[in-house]
Amino acid sequence: MKIIVATRNKGKVDEFQAMLGRLGYEVESLLDYETAPETDETGSTFEENAELKSREAAAYFGHSVLSDDSGLEVDALNGAPGVYSARFAGEDKSDEANNALLLEKLADVPAEQRTARFVCALSLAKPSGETLTVRGTMEGTIGFELKGANGFGYDPLFIIPSLNQTAAELTKTEKAAISHRGQALQKLEQALTTFLGA
Ligand code: IMP
Repeated sequence: MKIIVATRNKGKVDEFQAMLGRLGYEVESLLDYETAPETDETGSTFEENAELKSREAAAYFGHSVLSDDSGLEVDALNGAPGVYSARFAGEDKSDEANNALLLEKLADVPAEQRTARFVCALSLAKPSGETLTVRGTMEGTIGFELKGANGFGYDPLFIIPSLNQTAAELTKTEKAAISHRGQALQKLEQALTTFLGA
């Protein structure tokens, strides 16, 4: 069975392909449909944005669509960048610039106050507009320098305390086992078959 994932973020597509592929789903994304419309992320929560994206794309494709809205909440920044994680340093959505800005904003914050979490809301929508939405989180701390070459986004700065490694030092499989997206997907998996009526 096919699921279209409503994202053009290659890092996310790769992770979904690995996770949903293992469950036997064929995964397509907006990278396969260049002319599909881009949804404005006008919501104030991860869940609102995920639902906006999945509903709009499911109506457009006439097919079930999974969307992801995710980001980083840093406690010392009162939860920022939050829903603005992708464009923290500007509209061109540069991971490099976002990480540089995060380091700059936390320059005077000591290690024990650099707690943070990744949050992922996943929303599966049917063309009828009916949605199933779940949330997963991963707790960690923000490092003082970039480490690791895997992953994407804030991964090189996000330290998982129990492993003493950044998310960018983990393989895809290692990250999926503990990540916010992996956690959300596990919750979704439990309800998926009933929801889709497959
Ligand atoms: P979205 O496309 O609006 O959901 O933006 C999510 C943004 O949050 C990404 O562009 C990254 O900057 C950040 N982000 C979300 N998930 C991850 C992750 O697993 N690793 C690193 N950064 C992430």
